[in-house]
Amino acid sequence: MSAEKAECKHAKDKLVIENSYLSLNVILEGGINPTNLQCKKSGMIYADSKYQYRYLVWERRGRLPQYLKHSMKRRMTNGSDNGLDITVVGKTGDLEIEHAFFVPNNEPYLEEQITVRNIGKETIDTSSLSFGFTKTIGDEKGQLLENLSDSKVVAVPYRRECWFGRNGEYIEYSFKDLLTKKGWYRPYFSQAEKILCEKSGSEGWAWTNGSHSLLIAKHNLEGMEFSIIEPNENDGKPVIQFGGASVWHEDPEDALKIEAGKEVRFGITRYAFVEGGWKECYYAFRRFMDEQGHGTPKGFNPPIHWNELYDHPFWWATKATGRHYDTVEDRQRLYTFPSLEEEAKKAHELGCEALYLDPGWDTNFGSSIWAADRLLPAKDFVKYMKTKYGLNVALHTPLAGWTDQAGRNATYPEKAHRKDRYGMVLVDLCMASPAYLETKTERLIELAKDGVVFFMFDGDEYGRHEISGTSPCYDPSHGHSVPLTREEHGRAILKLARDIHKEYPNVLIELHPFLGSCFYPSMPTYYLHEPGGPDELWAFEYMWYSLWDLLYGKAISLYYYNLAYGYPLYIHIDLRNDNEHALAFWWYASTCRHLGVGGKRDPKVWEAHKQAMKTYKRLKRFYTQGTFYGLDETVHVHTLADEGKAVVNVFNISEKSETREVTFDLKEIGLKPEGKIEVDGAVFSQKGQKVTLLFNLPEKGTSLVEIRQCASES
Ligand SMILES: [Zn+2]
Repeated sequence: MSAEKAECKHAKDKLVIENSYLSLNVILEGGINPTNLQCKKSGMIYADSKYQYRYLVWERRGRLPQYLKHSMKRRMTNGSDNGLDITVVGKTGDLEIEHAFFVPNNEPYLEEQITVRNIGKETIDTSSLSFGFTKTIGDEKGQLLENLSDSKVVAVPYRRECWFGRNGEYIEYSFKDLLTKKGWYRPYFSQAEKILCEKSGSEGWAWTNGSHSLLIAKHNLEGMEFSIIEPNENDGKPVIQFGGASVWHEDPEDALKIEAGKEVRFGITRYAFVEGGWKECYYAFRRFMDEQGHGTPKGFNPPIHWNELYDHPFWWATKATGRHYDTVEDRQRLYTFPSLEEEAKKAHELGCEALYLDPGWDTNFGSSIWAADRLLPAKDFVKYMKTKYGLNVALHTPLAGWTDQAGRNATYPEKAHRKDRYGMVLVDLCMASPAYLETKTERLIELAKDGVVFFMFDGDEYGRHEISGTSPCYDPSHGHSVPLTREEHGRAILKLARDIHKEYPNVLIELHPFLGSCFYPSMPTYYLHEPGGPDELWAFEYMWYSLWDLLYGKAISLYYYNLAYGYPLYIHIDLRNDNEHALAFWWYASTCRHLGVGGKRDPKVWEAHKQAMKTYKRLKRFYTQGTFYGLDETVHVHTLADEGKAVVNVFNISEKSETREVTFDLKEIGLKPEGKIEVDGAVFSQKGQKVTLLFNLPEKGTSLVEIRQCASES
């Protein structure tokens, strides 16, 4: 075949799909069976057994769908041929299955997308649906095949779990583990628990033997869907099933059942053939997400926030009584203009670029109505902070779940409230009610008009418990499903962000995970990150014990996040608990593209933070726009390839001082492999493209190095 183009040959009773990197057979005789998925470069065969199609609740083995037809079409983008789309249609029972593959001409990946249609007369329960390629991993006795003993699968993007993860814990499984251990998940309504199940899910999986790998990644904006790995059996031998389409812990919600005549389209699975190990798979995942619009926006330059909360008496006085129940009187007494001016002075002294106001600035918790009687009119407040302190104004603007808790109809219309299943009106508001959306949109637009530059969508969780104030909404007059679905709730948040961005496209909108909790998203990370939608994602609540979260290993999840995503994270951290090396400051500066800080305590630490901030601002473009490369969990590189420069942050999170030698190839950090470099901040040596940096790090300390490529000598 030509090396230039993807091709599909219709040989005797099968389709042979290939480009110069990969090949796949779709056998048509005896039922549709996509198999023999092979990487031509490495010779690795990733699928060698029968494709699994299971959808009835009792099915364990599955049945191949009867072949009906297939079609092929070149995919043209802006007049150029990008590759080949191949669609194969079959049926099993009352389900018609459309199996679409895309093979690019010159890229080492294959994409698969599955659509299922109910061609029968009754609704089909598809809550057990499970389709996927299979690979034989053991013999008839269940013993692992020899050639898989050094292979494993690694979760992408959370090899270290958000929040729950600890030092030494990783979400990765050897193939022996896959033969002998169950999968699990954390239910969104009770995340401290792990529920055992057959399947293991993640946004992606890196299947690797260290030198050759397959990334199996899922992308779906229409429904929350994950890449699934599941053990099974074919012809008496153990197999693992991967890719395809699956329902896992009732997601995607729309795929739980299919009414007669209706269809469900699952997301795209990308199978990328990667030279290297799991880390290279993370980078391949990041490229995939970049292509889907989940990268770092061009020219991204968010203002560095100062959060007043950490030092503010209002927060600490009202926190004890329940933070969503502070009173108007508390606000009037404690959340005053002079108290904010005190914070603005600190922000200014440190060199921050915006004053971020956490709860307290509005008339009531979550009202989003500026308390002009205490704080000047919003427009004047914004002008004052800008003129006197050079600060923009950013706001905490919690959504429906955290609103009107000061009393029913405190600040929102009656029709914005949720109803429970018995028709009782609840304290919480319904995110998807037209009355809520209209009111909230109006109020936020008003604030943007007055010059506010940032909104935080906190308090946006989907109602979780049936019998309490956080039940999902059952009010049929709101026009949503009864009860409100998780995905409808999410779409309502997206609509709010879009309606604000329509008027004020430059206002930054931050999203807290809406399913699960602020510290652990139960939705795919990119979910709701669509054009016009939120700009940034909350960095999983590492805001209270920022340094400890790093030392215990919880915040190491941010390292993995950055290998997998350029989608900006936002955090503000408590500087009061940081040390004199500004260890926490640099960790979060290095892992969250939008940085916020707050809290002033130890004068020595404060001086360290002032120095750190000066350096950070000088190098800000590396941290906000640079490409992140990980040399290990505690060695981060931020590269601006266009400038031929990089900065390296090294962290010592141990209790002992240490000397560290870090060696890497220039191309490993996105710089040109040829030519000399200059280094500031460490002793270094260079042999060709190999560079070694030498660091002396104090205990719980950090160091920063700047690398420049010299102008070419030739
Ligand atoms: Zn509702």
